[in-house]
Amino acid sequence: MMMTTTSTTPTCKKDITIVNNYINGEILPPSSNHYLDVQDPSDSSVIGRVALSELVDVDQAVRAAHAAFPSWSSMTTKARAGIMLSFHSLIKSHARELASLIVMENGKNITEALADVAKGNETVEYACSLPQLMQGRIDAVSTDVTCRDRRDPLGVVVSIVPFNFPFMVPHWTLPIALVTGNTVVLKPSEKVPLTMFRVVELFEMAGFPKGVINLVNGTRDAVTGLIDHPLVRAVTFVGSSPVAKSVSDRCRALDKRCTALGGAKNHLIALPDCDVESTASDVVVSYAGCAGQRCMAASVLLIVGDDRPGGGAHQESLLRRVIEKASEIQRGMEPGKMGPVIDAQSLDKIVGYIEQAEREGAEILLDGRSWMTSGANGTKKDAGEGDVRGNWIGPTIILHHDRSDQAMNEEVFGPVLSVYRVGSWQEAIDIENSNPYGNAAAIYTTNGGHAEWFVRRVRASMLGINVGIPVPREPFSFGGLYGTKSKYGDMDITGDGAIEFFTNRIKITSKWPAPCVPEYVTGLAKQQQKDTVVDHANFAGTM
Ligand code: NAD
Repeated sequence: MMMTTTSTTPTCKKDITIVNNYINGEILPPSSNHYLDVQDPSDSSVIGRVALSELVDVDQAVRAAHAAFPSWSSMTTKARAGIMLSFHSLIKSHARELASLIVMENGKNITEALADVAKGNETVEYACSLPQLMQGRIDAVSTDVTCRDRRDPLGVVVSIVPFNFPFMVPHWTLPIALVTGNTVVLKPSEKVPLTMFRVVELFEMAGFPKGVINLVNGTRDAVTGLIDHPLVRAVTFVGSSPVAKSVSDRCRALDKRCTALGGAKNHLIALPDCDVESTASDVVVSYAGCAGQRCMAASVLLIVGDDRPGGGAHQESLLRRVIEKASEIQRGMEPGKMGPVIDAQSLDKIVGYIEQAEREGAEILLDGRSWMTSGANGTKKDAGEGDVRGNWIGPTIILHHDRSDQAMNEEVFGPVLSVYRVGSWQEAIDIENSNPYGNAAAIYTTNGGHAEWFVRRVRASMLGINVGIPVPREPFSFGGLYGTKSKYGDMDITGDGAIEFFTNRIKITSKWPAPCVPEYVTGLAKQQQKDTVVDHANFAGTM
């Protein structure tokens, strides 16, 4: 039985991929035989049907990963990294093909899709260095006593990912989890399952043994089943804040290690001394790139006022240039254009925020809703022509007069920029720091001292100075500030914090008895033995 839960009336125009599970190296249908439609967001056509897995599928995948663990974990890190290195080159040679899948199922333009693949492959590259990065330590902790530690993998780990980066986000966790010796079950987003369904074939081609990587498709039931499975040791999650929190709470109740990244509300602060042209370009790229569906996307632009004579003109010219540059963006999937948002629910939510802002007295300086009344190819539709296809909404700019407006405070996750004029640096900091998220923030200025003042005060963990998407990661990590709605759980999802996450440190303290051999063999003079400094904490049983 096929099952669809889409809210729009989908059309079928392309080949339809049946996205099943990938368990122990085999493509398997879900035990329920239930599927969900996958749509191309640009025209709402059905492009796939994704398996809706149940507990029995989850169990099968986890058991396959568990069975593969002993032999995978007993390989050297170097041998595992060698297989990852082959995977890295396969990703490079298949980048265009993977990017086309991303364009089709996610709606990114082709440049953004290629960047999705390239950024994901950066973590693969980092994981190939793990033989050099994850050695244990050794130290003489007292006379004749040494301590060494090694990192042991955890076992079966689970990765649950969102729709907005079909390749990159799964590759935040898979490479490091695998090279450190864990086996993995991945639960892709049901909205974009095609890319990873193709990628598992590349994993296989690279030489990963059966069972080391498994794919379980589905939604909530698959996620909760994976978390609860007794053989699962750790969970990584990336997605919206309410789900991140529920995943983290569920793991905590079961004493399982978890890192869960949630949503964001990122503020860009433009000072009167910023460079207008480069700031305007960067702000537009930050808020409208990937149709605003990035956890690092600019959401609020705070323009700091300048009371000096002529100071206001600088502020106005920045706002004017931001509007001009955003108005030039065209719809489409070619380089430089802007694609649709993921689905009809997302579109409704974004439009809801714009309408609410209007009711709250805000001014819509650029209205992306005009794109909604165009046909799939961007041409104006005649009234009565039927359903508008695709989830199109253009870049939108809202000027708020009240900082408590809804769009100023909640995650919109679409190409919408809220602009608010502030009278002082402190007011800008107050607005940023009073929001419950803590992912990213950026400051635009030509003065290094001003930049330092802000980066010391902003409550977010990824900060940009004249950089609207402060994203580069390895060897640095990625993720919001713990204790905010942007991050729950333990440690980090990438970088060296992820090495810590995916391993247990095992400490071995050893003391070997002095060799009982005659003096003429050791050549040790009696006098020398007498000179030895006495260690009062020598683990001999007395202090
Ligand atoms: P989502 O939370 O709806 O879904 C994420 C994953 O959780 C999917 O695999 C989905 O199947 C599963 N899921 C959904 N509802 C669930 C439930 N009730 N119980 C268990 N599992 C559930 O997120 P999304 O819409 O796919 O992605 C967009 C969100 O992800 C945005 O909020 C964005 O900010 C966030 N995000 C954050 C980061 C980050 O690094 N902090 C990165 C990318 C995306």
